[in-house]
Amino acid sequence: MKDFQKILFATDFSPGSDFAFDYAYSLARRFDAELHIIHVINEPVDLRGFYVPHISFDTLEAEILEGANKMMDRFRRTHATDYDKVITHVVSGIPHEEIIARAGEVDADLVVMGTHGRTGLDHVLFGSTAEKVVRKSTIPVLTIRCREE
Ligand code: AMP
Repeated sequence: MKDFQKILFATDFSPGSDFAFDYAYSLARRFDAELHIIHVINEPVDLRGFYVPHISFDTLEAEILEGANKMMDRFRRTHATDYDKVITHVVSGIPHEEIIARAGEVDADLVVMGTHGRTGLDHVLFGSTAEKVVRKSTIPVLTIRCREE
């Protein structure tokens, strides 16, 4: 039987990823696996140092990081209180790239994420982080489509 030792769950703190978290949490507990939870701060690369002077951007970045860390702490407190093998990661960058990179760094056996399952114009306009991870990851990816869509 396949044994999962390290599971990476990616969250954008949306209801859809909360829904997917239940699967990651159950699997981690079932296999007594480390559960890594990652949130990626979408980096505003195009704006950096261009529209806003660098100094104020640094302050903004620090505040964004602090806010994201608080959200992650709250997520952990409300969703994963009774499991001590939880490790959290807050990083900046392009979500699908960072998710794949961190999955490799922590040597994850499985990546778990939600998906909106957007189609048509919505898909063209917003793309899909889950789809990009599925396409590019060499580690198996479990995607959970959120219920309300
Ligand atoms: P999709 O709806 O296909 O774009 O994928 C949404 C899913 O991608 C979410 O449920 C998360 O699992 C993951 N995701 C999207 N944005 C981020 C982010 N900034 N940080 C971590 N995971 C993310």
